[in-house]
Amino acid sequence: MKTLKPAYYDDFYCLADKCDYTCCMDWGIHLNPEEAARYRTLADGAYASYITEDERGARICFNEDGLCPMLTDNGLCSLVLKHGMDSISNICDDYPRFVTEYSNQQEYHLSNGCREVLSYFLKTPVPMRFAWGEAESFPRADKRDFSDRMMRARWDAVALMQLSELPIWIRVFILRKYALDSHDFSKDYDDVQKKYFRGDTILGIYQSLQAVPDNLSMKLSMLHQLITDFNESAKGKRAYRMHIEMLQDELARLVGGDVDEVMSSWDDFNSDMEKFRDFFEHFCVNYLYTHVEVICEQGMFADAMTVLMLELALIKGTLFLAWRHEGRKLSETRLLHISSYYARMIEHSIMVHIEFVRNNDSHPWFTDAGYLYLLR
Ligand code: SF4
Repeated sequence: MKTLKPAYYDDFYCLADKCDYTCCMDWGIHLNPEEAARYRTLADGAYASYITEDERGARICFNEDGLCPMLTDNGLCSLVLKHGMDSISNICDDYPRFVTEYSNQQEYHLSNGCREVLSYFLKTPVPMRFAWGEAESFPRADKRDFSDRMMRARWDAVALMQLSELPIWIRVFILRKYALDSHDFSKDYDDVQKKYFRGDTILGIYQSLQAVPDNLSMKLSMLHQLITDFNESAKGKRAYRMHIEMLQDELARLVGGDVDEVMSSWDDFNSDMEKFRDFFEHFCVNYLYTHVEVICEQGMFADAMTVLMLELALIKGTLFLAWRHEGRKLSETRLLHISSYYARMIEHSIMVHIEFVRNNDSHPWFTDAGYLYLLR
């Protein structure tokens, strides 16, 4: 079977007990009937009490602290320690890896939700490289069928995202316009491609965006609302307590503080964020690569780009709060935690977020000005 992987794929390994994040926290891990039966019988049924079942099937009940009850104190899985890797569920075994199969080839993906995957984005030069290889077919691959047009469009989107000389927010903005055109099947795809790979098209979009004036109080109130609304359902969860709770005072200052002071610090923060430009390029390219099934389904590409914009706005807005909270400094650890926190929240239930975008397309967040306020 032909395989495609990001060049760093084979270097990745899970940090296990060395990970400061514990990726399965706050999850509800579903088990198929075979896995549930295995968990019930292992160690004479000692694990049976960790499983709950309802009309949606069996799943592991996480404890009040948001952790899997089978985790040991040092963050290892007791099931693996006692019974080996074959004993655990597919999702526990695979994550953060997953495989998509189409046209008799398999793509190997690594999720943006893993902080260790994101750490490769800090140490891997842009552009992200991909490598073809040959391997045995991965049996749990998600089998799909995509049109050639949308596959071309997806790889051209990767190339647009890798225009490293442009600021990230401009690239994402261009990508959304490109997504709308590329899944408009009344247009010839070659024409769409030519249009977006011409310097004057990119320059025209760039200049039109630069000409839109900022509205500072609107920008701050939109960021405040976005961060508040998206974290509402996470309140009380372990990851929220780890990453968001301590930023509440800074969040309140977005709307209740001195607008000029906050905005002048936003400018300083933006300059500081430049050092992570390559990180965010990799993050967005990996989003385009891993969400092939969403991007290549007709009609969802532009919505997937809107979801990416929201995700970036949440990450950037929350990093801004953290930067202020921590004396105008931003550690790489904070960057990894907050980026993987939102990736887990949004990308792991991407269809829910695409539905949200579709049902709220007149919301101010989803206008051109809204994108600019949130991302610029
Ligand atoms: S976040 Fe990544 S490195 Fe950490 S435990 Fe999960 S898979 Fe392993």
